[in-house]
This record gives sequence, C-alpha cells and structure tokens, in this order.
Amino acid sequence: MATEDHDSTETVPDRNAPGFDAEVLRTKYREERDKRFRADANDQYVEVKGEYARYLDDPYVDPGFEREPLTDEVEVAVIGGGFGGILTAARLRDEGVEDIRIIDSAGDFGGTWYWNRYPGVACDIESYIYLPLLEETGYMPKQKYVTGAEILEHSQRIARKYDLYRDVCFQTKVTELRWDEDAARWVISTNRGDRIKAHYVCMALGVLNKPKLPGVPGIEKFKGHAFHASRWDFAYTGGDSDGNLTGLRSKRVGILGTGATAVQCVSHVGEAAEHLYVFQRTPSSIDAKNNDATDPEWVKTLKPGWHQHRMDNFQILTAGGYQAEDLVNDGWTEIIRKLLSMFQQEDDPDVSPDAAMKKMETADFEKMEQIRARVDSVVKDKTTAEALKPFYRQFCKRPCFHNEYLPTFNRDNVTLVDTQGKGVERVTEKGVVVDGREYELDCLIYASGFEVGTDYTQRADYQIYGRGDQTLTEKWADGLRTLHGMHTHGFPNCFFIMSIYQSGFTVNFTHMLNESSKHLAYTIKRAIDKDARTVEVSEEAENEWVDTIINTASFGTEFQQSCTPSYYNNEGQPGEASQQNGFFFGTPGEFEKILHDWRTDGELKGLDVNQ
Ligand code: NDP
Repeated sequence: MATEDHDSTETVPDRNAPGFDAEVLRTKYREERDKRFRADANDQYVEVKGEYARYLDDPYVDPGFEREPLTDEVEVAVIGGGFGGILTAARLRDEGVEDIRIIDSAGDFGGTWYWNRYPGVACDIESYIYLPLLEETGYMPKQKYVTGAEILEHSQRIARKYDLYRDVCFQTKVTELRWDEDAARWVISTNRGDRIKAHYVCMALGVLNKPKLPGVPGIEKFKGHAFHASRWDFAYTGGDSDGNLTGLRSKRVGILGTGATAVQCVSHVGEAAEHLYVFQRTPSSIDAKNNDATDPEWVKTLKPGWHQHRMDNFQILTAGGYQAEDLVNDGWTEIIRKLLSMFQQEDDPDVSPDAAMKKMETADFEKMEQIRARVDSVVKDKTTAEALKPFYRQFCKRPCFHNEYLPTFNRDNVTLVDTQGKGVERVTEKGVVVDGREYELDCLIYASGFEVGTDYTQRADYQIYGRGDQTLTEKWADGLRTLHGMHTHGFPNCFFIMSIYQSGFTVNFTHMLNESSKHLAYTIKRAIDKDARTVEVSEEAENEWVDTIINTASFGTEFQQSCTPSYYNNEGQPGEASQQNGFFFGTPGEFEKILHDWRTDGELKGLDVNQ
C-alpha cells in the first residue's frame, strides 16, 4: 500500500534536530500575520455607544435604584472600584487617610471581576500571586487557579477589611471632571446629579473596561438575542458562572471571537446549546491548565512575607530574570525556564543580545510546536485541528490555559467556523455570514474584546478639564505625557493608576497595581502632610520621562511589528505613538526600583508642591 511504501523509505529522525525548520516557520508566521493585517487597525471596531449602548447595561443589579444627589467635599475621590481603586484606597487607609470616596458605575466592588461573570470565568494567573493582600486579609485561595466568583468575593473582602463600603457611590457614572482653580479642588459631576468636590482624585479606570464590537456591518439588524460576554445575560441562558446554561437547550448559538474569554466559556455553551458555532479569526494558543486544590500542609510552611516574595519571584522570571527557584512553575514561566536551561547546557554560552534573541526564538518555536501538537492530539477532525493551530510567537497574543476548550470541538453539536484570518463578513437579521454562507442563530454572543489604545476619555466615557480648561484629550492628542504613568502636567492633584501606560509592564497585572497603589498613597499622604494646596508634575520632569519611554522602546517595537495583529501591537501597527503610549521598557523590577528610590529620596522629585 502507498502508505507502507512511503513509510519504508523514511529516514530515521535525528534525535538532536529541533524537529522543525525555523525558516519555514518564520515564513509561515509572516504569511499568517500579513493575511490579518488591516489598514484600519483599531478603527475597524464598533464603539459601544448610541444605538449599541444597551451592550453596556448592567445585568447584575435590580432596576430602579435612586438616591439624592451629593454636593459635598471629600479629601480623596477614587474613580473605579476594581483592584486598582481598592488597592489605592486600602493603601491610603494604611497611611491614615480616612476621608475617601470610591465612585463606580457598577453595583459593587470588583471591576473586571464584577463585569465578567460569564460561564467558566476564572483567572489563569496563579491565585497565590494574583489575589492581592492575602496576608493582610488572612485569606488563602481554594485552588492554584480560582474562579471569577472567588476573585470577586476577595475584592469585596478587601473592601470590607479596609472599610471601603463607608461612603462609596455605586451605580454612579462620572460624566465630567473639572479643575476649579480658585478652590483648588476637582469638581466631579455624575449621572446622579452629584457635584462632589475632591482635593485629590485617583483615576482607577482599569485597562479592559470598555467592551467593543467587531467591525462588521449589520450588528443592529440581528433579530435574535445578542449580548457581549462581559455582560452575560443569565436571564436568557440560565445557569451561572459555573455553567448549567439550561436556557440554551433548544438554541442555535454563535460565539464571535476566540480570545481568552471565549476559550473559557465555549465548553459551557457547547455543553448546553442545541448547536454552537464558534466564529474564529485567529486561534489562541491553548496550553494545559494544571489546577490543584490548595494543600493545607503547604500553607502551614509559609512564613510571613511569603506573598510578596512569591509575587516578586514570578515577576522577575517572567521578565527574563534569574531566580534560583521557580515558585509558581507554570506555563508563563516555562519558556523562561527553557531558555535558562539552554544556556546552562552549553559549555561556553554566548550571552550576547543577538545570541540571546536567537535562543529566545528557538525556545518560542519549540513551545509553539508543542502547542500545535497538543491540538492534533486532542481534536479529532483534521481540518478543524489545522484551523485551531496558532502560527505566531507565543507572546504576540495572550497565551491561554484550558483543558476543556479544545475537546469541545469533538462534539457533534459544535462547529468551528474559521474565517481564514478575515473575520466574519457581516451580521444579518438571522445570523452571521462567513464566506458567503449565512449561519442562522437564535443567540449571538460577542466575545470580541475590549477597547485598548483608544483615547483615554473615550474609554472613561467622560472628559477631564484641567488648568485653563485644557481637556485631557487635547493634552494627550500627540501621545501620552506623564511621569511614571501616574501624573500629567496641567492636571494637578490628579493621579492615574495603571489605566494608561508609561508605567512598568507586568504579566501579573495586580502586582503592578499593588506597587503603584503604595506609591500613590505615599505621594498623597506626603502632600497632605505638607498641607499642599496643589501637587503637580513639572513640565521638565514629564518631558524627561517621555524621552526615557521613547528611547527605550525600540526592541519592543521590532518584536511587535513581526506579530500577528492584536490589541498587544495596536492591531499590527505599533507606531511612534504606541511607543510613547506603551510601557516603560525596562524590567518591572527596574520600574519598581525607580519608584522605590523616588520614595526613599522623600523629596517628591519632579512634583511642584504649592501650599
Ligand atoms: P480579545 O481581544 O482577546 O479577543 C477578541 C476576539 O474577537 C479575538 O479572537 C478576535 O480575533 C475576535 N474578533 C474581533 N473582530 C472579529 C471579527 N470581525 N470576526 C471574527 N472575530 C473577530 O478579548 P477577550 O475578551 O477574549 O480577552 C481580553 C483580555 O482579557 C485577554 O487578552 C486577557 O488579558 C483578559 N482575560 C484574562 C483572563 C485570565 O484568565 N486572567 C480570562 C479572560 C480574559 P483576532 O484574534 O483575530 O483579533
């Protein structure tokens, strides 16, 4: 038989050969990237406003909430009740600041974890480093990777511990922030008719706060039921964030998007729906998720300070640094472990930047070959398996970790509709069109992500008027201008916490939120102690920081340019503005040291303090 003849002529593979041709992979990666490249980049997406505004409605509160408008004054207003806002407020309490008001459009604390309650929602960063203030609250997560519900509970636990429910304003959308020069106060207007004065404001908007819709015509025409995954409609689907979506039993459901959100909810929808169509533009890389219950014996071994130590260990390793031990030991640190072992195996390791880059690329190819082989080993249909294989460098898109996503495509009632990198063509009254074929649906779920790289005030949904009525939009029209990503000249007493960049990069977002919150709480407390009327970054200090950002961004840009389009690289167009709007390109440790040294110096260097 032909196959046997073919097999008999095959040469025995060289066990030391890498098992792939790097040049072939480089070409394939480039082709896949080019297929997806679109000149309209971020402009392709539909902003959720006007006729689409209902996609932002809060499905988790009872309708009809009302309260009297507030016209009072607070020392510190924190806008945003997610981990950024909670941590800033908690650190301010640690510093002895009592007069704090948190304002959020949601019905409770939690931010991302308040909004994202879709079935299967969980965090694939280890809970022992992702959940903040574990030692302070005395809480130990139940598993290595915990559910969104447990994280939401923890955010509320922190809020209770630091007495943040006192004076909070939920279900309140800020509509404008205006600096009153004579009073040296911010005036916060809201959709509840409030005019709250604040001496200091902290902007804790988060980064993935505003859902976006795919840039395709016809979304408004669909006559079936539709919602965004970050506003999951359990009243329609039945069930909860653990699944059991009994309302979908007789429904044809479409999920548009295959990012980290879809990866977590697809198996639950596949289990429940009469038929599920998953519309894919680019496959995610799906590695195994090795979850375990927390071992009480291990917990007994932990010494005070273990939490910061573990967070630092992960932070250093994921930034490519050396640690004698990999405490978290997961898919995020694996590629770095591989790289280190490559160097350790060599008698004379060439550690020049070029050699290191090459080794990094080889380790990356190996990792992604393993990811692609995993698809083949799980997904039975060959065409489907081929379409689910990601061809790009591992950190071009967010790596995903999930055990049920790939097997879901073996179900008879689940179809992967691969769009060959083009995206769906349009939405109609009846469903979704791909390659000229209409897929009829009862329900369409947009797992199409969140705005990234759009104007800050568009994501915030309100304008900020600084000194001389200058808007923040005008101030940042040609790119971000900050010191440490936290202060901007012309906007005194206003602080940003990780909702814009120019601060340190991190895989573990809460780590940097935690570091930034300590820094902001320190700064605000020093200003209060000095009886400051205003504290404002000087133009000179701001310019210096912007230059530092632009000058250190070059390596990142080259890597980003070679990547398949995503929100990581401004949809394939990392330009000068995205360099300026990006992260501090040193390691997170270097960024933290800059902050630490600044605090140790104690002089609030670069900030003008006026009594
Ligand atoms: P993403 O932006 O990652 O995914 C959006 C998806 O929509 C992509 O697959 C995108 O395709 C697809 N899409 C966009 N337009 C079209 C179109 N016209 N046709 C077809 N598909 C389209 O959003 P997610 O909500 O999935 O994830 C956002 C982020 O949230 C993650 O990157 C992660 O940082 C975070 N997250 C973290 C989790 C955790 O465990 N910690 C869990 C869930 C989310 P394409 O890829 O081609 O652009």
